[in-house]
Amino acid sequence: MSAEKTLFRDTFLPFSRPAIGDAEIAELVDSLRSGWITTGPKVERFTQMFAQYVGGKHAAALSSATAGLHLALLAHGIGPGHEVITTPLTFAATVNMIALVGATPVLADIDRHTLQVRPEQIAARITARTRAIIVVHYVGDAADLDPILDLARTGRFSVIEDAAHAAGTEYKGKRIGAFDTTSVFSFHPNKNITTGEGGMLVTPDPEIFERVSLLKFHGMDRNAWKRFAKQGSPRYDIAMPGYKYNMMDIQAAIGLHQLRRVARNWDRRQEIWARYDRELSDLPLVLPAAPEPETRHAYHLYTVLVDPDRAAITRDEFIGAMTRENIGVGVHYQSIPVHPYYQSQFGWRPEDYPNSFRIGQQTVSLPLSAKLRDQDVSDVIRAVRKVLVGQTARGAPCAN
Ligand SMILES: *Cc1c(COP(=O)(O)O)cnc(C)c1O
Repeated sequence: MSAEKTLFRDTFLPFSRPAIGDAEIAELVDSLRSGWITTGPKVERFTQMFAQYVGGKHAAALSSATAGLHLALLAHGIGPGHEVITTPLTFAATVNMIALVGATPVLADIDRHTLQVRPEQIAARITARTRAIIVVHYVGDAADLDPILDLARTGRFSVIEDAAHAAGTEYKGKRIGAFDTTSVFSFHPNKNITTGEGGMLVTPDPEIFERVSLLKFHGMDRNAWKRFAKQGSPRYDIAMPGYKYNMMDIQAAIGLHQLRRVARNWDRRQEIWARYDRELSDLPLVLPAAPEPETRHAYHLYTVLVDPDRAAITRDEFIGAMTRENIGVGVHYQSIPVHPYYQSQFGWRPEDYPNSFRIGQQTVSLPLSAKLRDQDVSDVIRAVRKVLVGQTARGAPCAN
């Protein structure tokens, strides 16, 4: 049986493609022609629009969510001698930033069905040195925030939300970004809203916002745009040594129009999600859990579990076979304790976090983007069926 002859697609479907339209392109060109390409009026407009979209009070546009997590930890005063609790099922940046501010990351295992961090697991990890918890709203579903906020109030520690997946996610009627926490969003090209690279930190706390505003740009008390605009003064004071984590106008130019199409893109993502749910339901796969009541899913990542006991192949074999069918897939994520640095630095063993370990070996993310055409989605579904059961539709054997 020759795979080459029976491919459904002759072009590779990348795992993720940003949905960028003519409006983004025109706005970007406008920035380039205007002569003002770094932080300026478009960043200010995008920041305000984003804060309004999530229902947040203060927002700071940044170069990435990784920068945002770094600044959030610093602004909350987290450093050496402190412990920060988070989930082992996240991108490395979440844990890296805790380590880079000199604090000790502590992992609380996830729920094996919802894949979100569990309040009881967090509670079991709290010590006298706990200063913060970073909640990850995994795949765009909302983690159960209320019991976590209660734990933080009782223990007097900060809650930071890694909301990289959660632009548009709602918990009990409010968007992520509107809670009494510091939340950090990502605009990486794989995320639901993109600016190429970029991030946004949102907080209701004016002191946290003030510190983030200084730290994001050299510790300067005014940004360049205000200094060099006609009414500005080129003078500035350094209040503290800061980083260079500002977003540029050429990024915000893209973001402004991404935000205008966010509702339409959400509808399209939900439609694709529902199709996957429907057309993959009879396969030996574990499909994503339904969203919890009182939440609204951002439909960021459609992750299925390939359990070798049911599917007769491993996740890695599944990935290889899908790639041969010209379909790109992703892994979100391997459990954090499998990485050698964390093992040697913190003594973590993957088997101590059994749910994350197992999910990390079985999870695979199918393409999900507002950019996908119906035919692309059909191709993904046919490829998954072929790889798992040798059938392209229910009951219909492959042509080969
Ligand atoms: C993408 C991502 C980040 C990092 O975002 P960047 O904007 O690329 O820095 C952090 N945490 C999670 C969970 C992510 O998915």
